[in-house]
Amino acid sequence: MSTSAIIELKSCPLYIDGKPVLSRGPKDIQYNPATGEAVAEIPRTTPEEISAAVEAAHKAFFAWSKTPVIQRCKVLFKYRELLEAHAAELIGLITEENGKTIDEARGSFQRGIENIEFACGAPTLMMGDTVEQVGTGVDGWSTRNPIGVCVGITPFNFPFMVPLWMFPMAIACGNTFVLKPSDKVPRTAVRLVELMVEAGLPAGVLNLVHGAKSTVDALLTDPRVKAVSFVGSSGVARYIYQTAANNGKRVQALGGAKNHSVVLPDADMKSTVSAVMGSGFGCAGERCLATSVVIAVGEVADPLVKELVRAADNLTVGAGCEAKTQMGPVISDEARKRILSYIELGEKEGAKLARDGRNDAVSKGAGYFVGPTILDHVNPNSRVAKEEIFGPVLSVIRVKNIKEALAVIDNSEYGNAASVFTRSGGAAREFTQNVGAGMVGINVGVPAPVAFFSFTGWKNSFFGDLHALGKDSVHFYTEQRVVTCRWPD
Ligand code: NAD
Repeated sequence: MSTSAIIELKSCPLYIDGKPVLSRGPKDIQYNPATGEAVAEIPRTTPEEISAAVEAAHKAFFAWSKTPVIQRCKVLFKYRELLEAHAAELIGLITEENGKTIDEARGSFQRGIENIEFACGAPTLMMGDTVEQVGTGVDGWSTRNPIGVCVGITPFNFPFMVPLWMFPMAIACGNTFVLKPSDKVPRTAVRLVELMVEAGLPAGVLNLVHGAKSTVDALLTDPRVKAVSFVGSSGVARYIYQTAANNGKRVQALGGAKNHSVVLPDADMKSTVSAVMGSGFGCAGERCLATSVVIAVGEVADPLVKELVRAADNLTVGAGCEAKTQMGPVISDEARKRILSYIELGEKEGAKLARDGRNDAVSKGAGYFVGPTILDHVNPNSRVAKEEIFGPVLSVIRVKNIKEALAVIDNSEYGNAASVFTRSGGAAREFTQNVGAGMVGINVGVPAPVAFFSFTGWKNSFFGDLHALGKDSVHFYTEQRVVTCRWPD
């Protein structure tokens, strides 16, 4: 790379104690997934800088935890307005960093905003319980109290929304926060923190560090950190859960997924194909709620595969910033190579390539593109059926009945989401009550809970006790105190 190209790269500051800081650590290069061009330098935060960020959060905790909850929420109201005022810029940045289409970035922007709106309910969400006369002349009540410095570690696939699952509620509950965004998409996080400072958040309440494993390890072992929220792949989630718990921290670690969409013979073909296409190929398959396996029940298989292939042939794949694009690139060249190797593996394992996205012109140009790919007649015990591919590859498994479909899902090590497509209330009920997944869709391809429900992955899709979002998030970011009180007569 020429020196002039390096000079043009954007920088990516840390935020410590309310101020931007240019890290002294070594830098990695961030590439635009749609073009493969270098765009920014991302620092690996030094141990001293990480410690300074935690110390800023530690020092800010006392005053912030004593700030009336309504005042804390007023900052969030202002923050929400500022984000809305910068919507176009932020949506553009999400697309540039992650590769999502503008529509997908807009959808994730809206979901992010809803998390702030939910957190603004902290004054009522934090209410405790009271029982008078628990003994003669004795009353009892409980309160929810902030816990201290919380850390958030986030993945590449939702640069705006996933950080907003974490710090608005943590902060509304009176905690302080250190955010460590994905090293692949950290610039959206910089804007998230800058606008929070502009909204009037006191210095030190929200801090930002960059990097990968070494930064995370420093945070997991720091005694000043009381709680860790993580979203990412299952191997790392398990490691985060074990390491943080061993270091005495409260931890919620959301992991990877392998989600199934079961299509019954009575399903409405048009809306089912549209939902499965959106779930399988939306965000280029890089969603923890993406359908990765379609389980076709009985005679629906042939017409369903035919319609999916037809829809995939008509999908416009290209740079997310172009209005006509319906599916963007995957995040990196490494991810692209991994996905291509899974397509090869599928063939070796005996699946039939109903549609081979490797042949699409876009897959051969610059940028990290993989055309929509459909593997048919996939063996339920093959690796492509069981492992997370995290790309635009749909595997179709053919079964005879709903019981066989449920058994395939049961056999998965993951349990994030599963959907059923049917017109039968009885079949939907049987599915919902027996499926081994925490988030269930009925004629819905991406069963993403809205902010006031929790994000309830099961099995290796979640490590911990209290989930993200919903009431669980209020419980995660607070600890209870129970008071028992007697006044002398
Ligand atoms: P990832 O696990 O590679 O990285 C997640 C975060 O962990 C990043 O901040 C990264 O810098 C850090 N990290 C990476 N390796 C680490 C290590 N060895 N030790 C400590 N920290 C490390 O995940 P990703 O590729 O950024 O995101 C995709 C994954 O996230 C997929 O598996 C997807 O299913 C999952 N995901 C899950 C949910 C959910 O709600 N369950 C939501 C979004 C994404």
